[in-house]
Amino acid sequence: MVKTKAVMIGAGLANMAAAVYLIQEGHWRGDQITFYGIDMHGSNDGGEAHDFTDEYWNKNHPLDNQTGYVARGGRMLNYRTYVDLMDLLDRIPSTTEPGMTAAEDTRDFDAHHRTFDKARLLQGGKGIIDGGKLGLNNKDRVLLSKLVLMPDDEETKLDNVTIAEYFKDDPHMFQTNFWYMWETTFAFRVESSAQELRRYMHQMIYEFTQIEHLVGVNRTRYNQFESMMLPLINYLKGQGVTFIGNRIVTDWEFADSPMQDEITVTGIHVKNTTDDTEELVPIDDNTAVIFTNGSITDSTSMGDYNTPAVENMEYGISAALWKKATERFYNLGTPDKFFNDRKNSEWTSFTLTTKNHLLLNEITRITTQMPGNALNSFLSTTPITKLGQKDVNMSIVVHHQPHFTTQKPNETVIWGYFLYPRRTGEFVHKQYIKMTGKEMAQELIGQLSKVDPGPDNIKHKEAEILDSIINNIPVHMPYASALFNNRAKTDRPEVIPAHSTNLAFTGEFAEQPYQMIFTEQSAVRSGEIAAYHFAGISMDHLVKTPRYDKDPKTLLKATRRMFS
Ligand SMILES: Cc1cc2nc3c(=O)[nH]c(=O)nc-3n(C[C@H](O)[C@H](O)[C@H](O)COP(=O)(O)OP(=O)(O)OC[C@H]3O[C@@H](n4cnc5c(N)ncnc54)[C@H](O)[C@@H]3O)c2cc1C
Repeated sequence: MVKTKAVMIGAGLANMAAAVYLIQEGHWRGDQITFYGIDMHGSNDGGEAHDFTDEYWNKNHPLDNQTGYVARGGRMLNYRTYVDLMDLLDRIPSTTEPGMTAAEDTRDFDAHHRTFDKARLLQGGKGIIDGGKLGLNNKDRVLLSKLVLMPDDEETKLDNVTIAEYFKDDPHMFQTNFWYMWETTFAFRVESSAQELRRYMHQMIYEFTQIEHLVGVNRTRYNQFESMMLPLINYLKGQGVTFIGNRIVTDWEFADSPMQDEITVTGIHVKNTTDDTEELVPIDDNTAVIFTNGSITDSTSMGDYNTPAVENMEYGISAALWKKATERFYNLGTPDKFFNDRKNSEWTSFTLTTKNHLLLNEITRITTQMPGNALNSFLSTTPITKLGQKDVNMSIVVHHQPHFTTQKPNETVIWGYFLYPRRTGEFVHKQYIKMTGKEMAQELIGQLSKVDPGPDNIKHKEAEILDSIINNIPVHMPYASALFNNRAKTDRPEVIPAHSTNLAFTGEFAEQPYQMIFTEQSAVRSGEIAAYHFAGISMDHLVKTPRYDKDPKTLLKATRRMFS
């Protein structure tokens, strides 16, 4: 189904990747491609807070304090598995480093700032825990090995099986250092899909040997917007691609076909969110429609230093359009499995900006590591899970500073998150979701004080630290882990579904063989597949996927590590 034009629904990484491959491999001109999207970054955002306040999701949640920075997520990459992402970044110039591609920029930064986490887990009374001791028993090892050994063609055995169900006779698993690190590095919950955990076990098998130091983790020089999205946007604009923002695609027009199963888009309904006008954009026979059918940052809301983020109950706009397609065709999956189960997908994050390095230096002293190297997770000292077990309270990422190009030398930006926002703080006695930015900072200082080796506990500097905070922006993301929700393989449409003549699905809610989700990698690959399909390029030319799970040396190392 070779096409000569493309309409992109959603302007995130996946569709921008599709556009780059159409131009560079399909030899299309930029003016053959048009983007419609609610914003021009998707989940990969980041910038000065005041730049975000007018965006669609924040319209009903105006911020009193618009200072400081915000990014809804931190980012960890992994060159060894993120082969399609690195291929993409190698095709576009860096925005901040003259003469380098975006990939060279990231590799250069990374070579000079290697990740070596020295305080992956911390716990009150113990301080830094030796995460090198995974704490697995034989039952854990057997169940994990079964996941590693389960071949791709048997993964449907894990259709609709949660991680909790998979380990139902082995609650010990959820009290191991291995689990605490795995759940917070990748954001799995016990309610998440065991099928996806199997995929991670396969694609990230080599992480087993280094998970406590995050040695395989690579990071971009600045936040993901400036180091990845801006280079893409600049490149695509330079090629003549059209970006139409502040638009929600709300509905479809499909052609009729004799068996009612041929998927041919003939029009899309587009709403302009600035003036609420609607238009029908016709889609002709020569046009491909490439749709990112789910975004984990849809329906997010922001708060500020003195205001909690108020939950936004709007159903995700991407899933709403996906749902409309499933109402017409039977082979396009089950959006509600992912988007109607917020309690299993929500998290709350925060971006804290200070006017000096006091907090940064205190964290460096307590964790014994330089900024930029870590993901620090604070383990509870009392049971907090439904199973009556201990678990991680909160995690922080102290970026290499500066994390934003406009950040002043005296400023610090730190990101953190609560995987279970309905749990109650230990120091501020309310649910994390209900906390203001100030209260989240107080909770963080409290957690740090519990693991502080002294002699002068951080608690004594609380007033001074709070005084140094320019802003702390809580962000509630109802769908942050939606992609991990329990599922069957048929719950997501394939990138090119059967009987589709011009519609492709991209991003984290499209099914593609082997790829693990919640990664920039799988998002890019889905775009690459869609582009090759519509440009008539053989799939043999896709970037080759490394299979560490089939490498005997890697498997042996992982097996040995399970016994540590
Ligand atoms: C908190 C957080 C932490 C993360 N950490 C990591 C990490 O450490 N490592 C990693 O690799 N990845 C991480 N990710 C995941 C990564 O950001 C995603 O994999 C990637 O952004 C997905 O890109 P995408 O283009 O598929 O979707 P998105 O980035 O979500 O972009 C899709 C865009 O299309 C829009 N859209 C869809 N439908 C419509 C419509 N009908 N009308 C208008 N607009 C529409 C959406 O609203 C959205 O803006 C993280 C994500 C979050 C939120």
